[in-house]
Amino acid sequence: MVTLNSVDKEYLLSTIRDIPDFPQPGINFKDITTLLNNAKAFKFLMDHLEARYKNYDLDFIAGIDSRGFIFGAPLADRLGIGFVPIRKQGKLPYTTIGEKYSLEYGFDEVEVHIDAFNCDKEKAKVLMIDDLIATGGTAKAAANLINQAGANCVEACFLINLIFLEGDKDLKIKTPVYSVLEVD
Ligand code: AMP
Repeated sequence: MVTLNSVDKEYLLSTIRDIPDFPQPGINFKDITTLLNNAKAFKFLMDHLEARYKNYDLDFIAGIDSRGFIFGAPLADRLGIGFVPIRKQGKLPYTTIGEKYSLEYGFDEVEVHIDAFNCDKEKAKVLMIDDLIATGGTAKAAANLINQAGANCVEACFLINLIFLEGDKDLKIKTPVYSVLEVD
């Protein structure tokens, strides 16, 4: 199982910017744009993800709207497999299935095309990916959606896990979870 050593983790973490009190007071926003515009850091991350997942025999990468697309699409290309967007409600044009999840106030919904994971196997092997797991609500809904669409979510991958929120706790019941970086 390919993981990063602590020196490599510190390097990647140093390329991510903290924005205190964004988008609201009390939230420490992890700004990954400073990793993305750093060619060395972005390549380092993508090389790591490719090395980790090249022997997983995956059929698709499913990226969560929207920052999951940034890592998911190039990873799919590197692995020579398809990319599937899991989008917020109302964005996908063809027949969809959806999964609602609770927010602090109200709910949100993620959707996927009903035929997104069709392939020559009975059950496609899918890696789900997003930039960050906080409460885990979005990721849990997305994992449910992948399984409802007839595929098998074989792992959920995040660049950052805000471990103090324990969002991965419930998700781990549904699928293995890998976080490149864990943040207190
Ligand atoms: P959650 O459903 O609470 O796990 O929220 C996950 C989504 O919200 C991810 O797609 C993140 O992009 C975004 N998010 C939540 N908290 C933060 C944070 N502190 N910094 C950056 N993005 C965040």
